[in-house]
Amino acid sequence: MPFHKGLTRIEARQYISFYEEEESVNGTLLEFAKWWRDTNFMEQLPYVRDRIVEAYFWANAFLSEPQYELSRIMLAKYIAMISVVDDTYDAYAKFEELIHFTQAMERCDIDAIDQLPAEYMKFLYKVLINIFNETTCEMTEKGRPYSADFVKEEFKILVRSYHTEAEWSNSRHVPPFEEYMRNRKLSNGTTLILALAFTGMEEVAGIKEYEWLRSNPKIIEAANLVICAMNDISSHQDEQKRGDCASSVECYMKEHQVSKEQAVEVIKKMGANAAKDINNMCMTLAVIPKPILKLFFNIVRG
Ligand SMILES: [Mg+2]
Repeated sequence: MPFHKGLTRIEARQYISFYEEEESVNGTLLEFAKWWRDTNFMEQLPYVRDRIVEAYFWANAFLSEPQYELSRIMLAKYIAMISVVDDTYDAYAKFEELIHFTQAMERCDIDAIDQLPAEYMKFLYKVLINIFNETTCEMTEKGRPYSADFVKEEFKILVRSYHTEAEWSNSRHVPPFEEYMRNRKLSNGTTLILALAFTGMEEVAGIKEYEWLRSNPKIIEAANLVICAMNDISSHQDEQKRGDCASSVECYMKEHQVSKEQAVEVIKKMGANAAKDINNMCMTLAVIPKPILKLFFNIVRG
């Protein structure tokens, strides 16, 4: 049976066994393939994009130093989950269902599962709670339980911002540019990504650094602008097609009555200026350890 005629799930499952035997096998990638398969996502949630390999490579590009293995594992797992939650909010769930899901996420407690209106949501919720619990156990073992708390809190903030976007999309509301950007900074998930990177950087990222993250320093503001400019300009057409809420491009066009090209120009420029600010801040922020500052250079590479 040639590969291209087989069922993709079965082929993928079979490929894992071949891959395991290969001399050049990448252990971490293999572990992820198994983890992803065990969670059973692609069967339970057929609407989500299958992005585990993409997530792992993103994490690898973001933090490539050998000693940050734990950070890469956390990043890849959570990025895959962020993508699943994003697809759920943007492209699949009904708004009424999302109201329950957002409330349950605020509680972050397995008992809240009963208030969820659909089986697929219960499944997703359960996986999320399990991952939070796993992270708590792992970080407690390492003597850094606060690290897991930060990750969970930032995940909640991200979900709230997805909810706001779903609300706008549901009511076909195009908010003023500033209002959109205030929420967009949260839906970027930059602080969450950094909190995840910090999990494996115990020599430089202690509770003080986590608190610095939470204080929303200027460098995070700038990183958010860069990411927003990059994402909204590149993915904006596809997302508008699938019915995402208005992006910064639409909000700017509507508020300032300008063409799409003009709006894109303005947003690009904002991003470019913010990237310069990051360079400046990295050179002057002497109190922040170098490996942390390096994350900012890498995060804006996309
Ligand atoms: Mg989204």
